[in-house]
Amino acid sequence: MVTFREPGEGAINYAIYIVENYDDSKLKNREDLLNLMYAIMTQMPPHKRVKRCEYCGYVWYDDSLRNTKKTCSAECKTGIKTLQRRMQRADRALLQRKPRKKTKKEINYIWWLEYPFWLDEYEMLKHSWKYEIPKDVEVMTFIDANNQIYGTGNRRKKVIKPGYEDTQAGQRFYKLCVNKLRTG
Ligand SMILES: [Zn+2]
Repeated sequence: MVTFREPGEGAINYAIYIVENYDDSKLKNREDLLNLMYAIMTQMPPHKRVKRCEYCGYVWYDDSLRNTKKTCSAECKTGIKTLQRRMQRADRALLQRKPRKKTKKEINYIWWLEYPFWLDEYEMLKHSWKYEIPKDVEVMTFIDANNQIYGTGNRRKKVIKPGYEDTQAGQRFYKLCVNKLRTG
């Protein structure tokens, strides 16, 4: 499976060369031209200088002295370097992932024993403060009284009376009118 990118200079030159040296009499219509383009993209002539560019994916002709190039143009070379760097960065990030910092509770609370305990009293108080907040007697009495009135959970349900807001708005408007008349 080849990934095709924007064709590089070498790949374009190769395609131009093939088309220019192609027998024109074989190209009768659009279909023939499309077939030729498809063949240029997919077929590799058995020639050691004809290669597939490792970046853009198109076939090209390596005219370098030692025939060692792997990409068809300078842009493709830069592209493949960028790709490699990106992959290296991703690998590094995966391998050198920072371990999660342990919470104070994980360090100081021995929870796995039958009778769990804290190693540090200060941390214990700091932790328990969040879950069992101490209250003085007045607050406790207030909460208890509210529970007796509204039930436990301390949720006061809003009672919706039909037309209540309309009546209020009407009353407000009436008061405004009266004030306006009085003050002139
Ligand atoms: Zn290329």
